[in-house]
Order: sequence, then structure tokens, then C-alpha cells
Amino acid sequence: MTTDTNLKAADADSAWKDDIRAGVRHVRDLASLPLSPAERSAAQEAAVRHKVRAPKTYLDLIDWNDPADPIRAQIIPSPDELVETEGELDDPIADHAFSPVPRLTHRHADRVLLFPTYQCAVYCRFCFRKESLTSIGRGYTRDALEEAFSYIEARTEIREVILTGGDPLSLPDKALAEIRARIEAIAHVRLLRIHTRVPVVLPTRITPGLVGALQGRLMVTIVTHFNHAREITPATELACRTLRQAGFVLLNQSVLLKGVNDTVEALEELCRELMYRLGVKPYYLHHGDLARGMAHRRTTIAEGQALAGALRARLSGICNPVYVLDLPEGGGKVPLGPCHIEAREGDNWRIRGQDGGERVYRDVVG
Ligand SMILES: *Cc1c(COP(=O)(O)O)cnc(C)c1O
Ligand code: SF4
Repeated sequence: MTTDTNLKAADADSAWKDDIRAGVRHVRDLASLPLSPAERSAAQEAAVRHKVRAPKTYLDLIDWNDPADPIRAQIIPSPDELVETEGELDDPIADHAFSPVPRLTHRHADRVLLFPTYQCAVYCRFCFRKESLTSIGRGYTRDALEEAFSYIEARTEIREVILTGGDPLSLPDKALAEIRARIEAIAHVRLLRIHTRVPVVLPTRITPGLVGALQGRLMVTIVTHFNHAREITPATELACRTLRQAGFVLLNQSVLLKGVNDTVEALEELCRELMYRLGVKPYYLHHGDLARGMAHRRTTIAEGQALAGALRARLSGICNPVYVLDLPEGGGKVPLGPCHIEAREGDNWRIRGQDGGERVYRDVVG
């Protein structure tokens, strides 16, 4: 019995390691992909600005006959990334300005971001932390986080600790268990949140060992990052079922990306399948932030608002994400969705309904 379980655990652990080994780990591995010689040299040249990495299962989702494939667009470097556009920023949402100690960002009183690693299972071309991932680039050590833990310990107003990075679920089970136990020991922390692309790009990593490492005193919320319905597969479905059955709350955030998911049809299918097939609640749809070399993937806010308005009319409330912008200079995330209030006349509010017709609501208070 014990031997059986150990064997299974060993199998589960070798599956994801094989998946990484068979994928793209360095720029030179781009040579193994079915790219034309011109596409390959363009990708290799473009890779200087941001690291390249993708596990095999994620690469296998690409339709190489389609140059505009939505998975390919997210991970294969493009010469467009080398275009410098006025207004783009190294630190688009001011993580660094709000970082009182290394590996931690504290912008809102009740929650902090903790960066256990600056490495990921995949490097997304559009990443808003791409400069930190390149310039810091460090992995996990227990010592590196100690100052951050002391900071959290000393501030009783902190209720949520959000593991982000980098990708926290790219760490070994032992490191995750260590981090979880350290946070759990801080009595005022109520919730552990994990922002990760691993269930999307390396679903084989969601093993019983990983789940066990995260289970303990705290409510755990896993915020996944699916951007397209093509990323929803039997493997990602199994990974999400494992996480749900472990009792974790699952949410998703997507980034609005031109040429990947900037149509009503693409977003509608993504949000429905997330909720109905994976049991993952669409949480945020992020407007493209000002990461460098990403002008070719950004939409305008007006385009995003039109999409968000159409989604609101088509999708149930539970399938609907909130369209937000993470403001530069640390202004936080603000909703950008279309406003339904047309006018206010004293106590009367003229409000546009979901059917486009206007209604009047009057404030009636005692
Ligand atoms: C995004 C973010 C959070 C989390 O915000 P929610 O709206 O609670 O999801 C917390 N702190 C920082 C600094 C953030 O950038
Ligand atoms: S997984 Fe997240 S942190 Fe890592 S490159 Fe992609 S978007 Fe950036």
C-alpha cells in the first residue's frame, strides 16, 4: 500500500519534470520548434529583452500552421517586442515604490504581495513584471523571505498574503510547505492567496504532494491565469478539479491582449468554459498595462469598455469578470467597465438598463 502510494507520487513528480525538460528552457531550444528559418531568427533576436521558457504540454497546444495562434502569441518572442514606445514603463504598477522590504509589496492595508521567487514555469511575452524577472531573477531561499515575514508579523492589519512572483507554484513542494507553515504561524493572517499560471501551462505540476503542501489552517485561494479557451484542456481540467477537491477557492485573472482574446466571442467562450467546465470564477479582466515592448498587444480603453459591456450583456453574473486597470504610480486596480448612470437630477437617477432602455431610480430613504 505504502509502496503503491510512493510509486504513484514518484510518477506524478516525474511527469511534470519531464514536461519541463521536453519544453523550451533556453533561447537555443527555439531551434527545436517548427518555425521557418526567418521566424526562428526573428524569435531568437527578440528573446534578448525577456527570458524564454515553456513546458512541452503548453507548446503542444500551438497550431504551428497559424502564425496568429493565440498560444504562440503569448510565449514565442516577436520582433515587435523590441519596439520602444513612448510612455511604456519598467515598473508599470509601481511594485518597487511600495516595497518596504525585499520580496514584498504593500499597497493596501489589509493585504501584501510576497515574491517567493522571480522565476516562472513559462515566460509570457506581455508580463508586466518582465523587468523584475530579468533584473532580479532570483529563486527561493528561506532567508530571502525572512525580512518580509517579520514585516507581516509586525502589522496586525494584514489579513491576506498573496504569493506571486515569478510563479510560486513553480517551487518544490518542500519550499511551498515551508512558506505556508511560516505564514500560518502569524495569527492575524486569514487567507493565503496564490497567483499562478502553473495550472494553465504545467498542469502536471498539480500533484497530491503539491496540494498537501498547501493544506493547513488557512483558507487558500488559487488565482489562475487563463487567457484563451484553447488553454482549457483535459489536463488543465484535471489540475483544476484536483485543486477544487482539495477545498481551495479558484478564481481567474486574464489580460486583455490584442490578437489573443480581444473579441467578444473569444472572451465569452473563455469565461463560460472557466466557470462551467473548470469551476473557476472569472475574477479580473486586466486592461493591458504599460510593460515595455507591448504596444502591439495593447487595446485602447474604449475598445476594452465595449468588450466589457458586451460581456456583461451576454454572460451570467457568475461568469463575468470585472474589467480593471492597475494604475501607474501605484494607484491600485480600478474598474473601467461601462458606466450605466446617464444623469442625476436631485434624488432621481437616470440609468441605462441591460436592454439599452433608460429607467429612473429615485433615492427613497427614511
Ligand atoms: C493586485 C494587487 C493586490 C490584490 O488586489 P485585489 O483587488 O484584492 O485582488 C494586492 N496588492 C497589490 C500591491 C496588488 O498589485
Ligand atoms: S507566469 Fe506570470 S509572472 Fe511569470 S511571466 Fe507569465 S505573467 Fe509574468
